[in-house]
Amino acid sequence: MLDWLRPREAAMTRLLEKFARAESPSFDKAAVDRFGRMVAAEWRRRGAKVERLKQRERGDHLRVEWNPSGNRATGQILVLGHMDTVYAAGTLARMPFRVSRGRAYGPGAFDMKGGLAIALFAVDALVAAGRAPEKRVIFLWTSDEEIGSGTSRAAIEREARRSDAVLVLEPAAGLDGRVKTGRKGVGEIEMMVTGRAAHAGLNPEDGVNAIEEIALQIAHISRWNRPRRGIMVNAGTIEGGTRTNVIPEKARVAVDVRADRAADMHALERKFRALRPILRGAKLQIRGGFSRPPMGRKASAALYATARSLAHEMGIPLGEAHVGGASDGNFTAALGVPTLDGLGAVGEGAHSPNENILIRALPERAALLASLLAAL
Ligand SMILES: [Zn+2]
Repeated sequence: MLDWLRPREAAMTRLLEKFARAESPSFDKAAVDRFGRMVAAEWRRRGAKVERLKQRERGDHLRVEWNPSGNRATGQILVLGHMDTVYAAGTLARMPFRVSRGRAYGPGAFDMKGGLAIALFAVDALVAAGRAPEKRVIFLWTSDEEIGSGTSRAAIEREARRSDAVLVLEPAAGLDGRVKTGRKGVGEIEMMVTGRAAHAGLNPEDGVNAIEEIALQIAHISRWNRPRRGIMVNAGTIEGGTRTNVIPEKARVAVDVRADRAADMHALERKFRALRPILRGAKLQIRGGFSRPPMGRKASAALYATARSLAHEMGIPLGEAHVGGASDGNFTAALGVPTLDGLGAVGEGAHSPNENILIRALPERAALLASLLAAL
């Protein structure tokens, strides 16, 4: 299949260009839906059954069923990807799609429209080789991964529970294309302080300084960091106060939390809930928590071994990586469904003006996905 795909490198790049030029910011339903119609048309042309999972505020998700074995199918494989990007509408003007020195640049090219193009060509290669997968394949293309998958999580988990394996087309790690066999759990915790306003010069003793309280709390929670154990606590945004001559009544901070182990995730949440005010008269409120549980290596080990040997047969070394970011693969791994992530494009600069993919890896990744679909 790699021999069939190699000469299609330019066609794959053209499809990626078409996808990258259809901007699809997570918060822009009309734009994501426009892109979704483009993706749906590609799948319908290949004889797949496309269902739109309609959403009111977010873009519609696409559930694509490709079942060349029909009634003889003996199980299900779920392939996950997202159509939304982090780039606001109009980014293309500053960051146009372009090809240079074997790389293709553009908003979402790497994260993860490259992965969407790879899936289509993997199916083409399987058809050309006459190697229909024995299992039914569900491709679930969602619209809100970059903003926490609030409207897609239920559909992802529903399909994962029916599946024997989940393959996630998120970007690979590093320019050597490592797949992701571990991801941290990720969440956001908001701390809100209410103090008491007073004149900073006339009666400061009547005030309770909310900013001071939140500063003390931040100093306290930042000691919970254990980088080597994979625990991360980062106060990311902060606001509070009104004027310099007022003892501030309100302050809030949003904290990013990450952990490698589910036990650490729960312990961290408990520690936040147990926080008490430090200054007398201050009130402290805690909201939020982990939104994606950690993805442990256990869920990926067997699939990774299969993928590595298939890649080896094609003459491609396939390494693995444990990464700090989370994806929808965290949800499926937490259900105990074998999950392999980072099977998408090879490149660098996700979520940055330099986002790009390695063009010569496009056929390799499509061949790897195709052979996995045929082997599982
Ligand atoms: Zn992504």
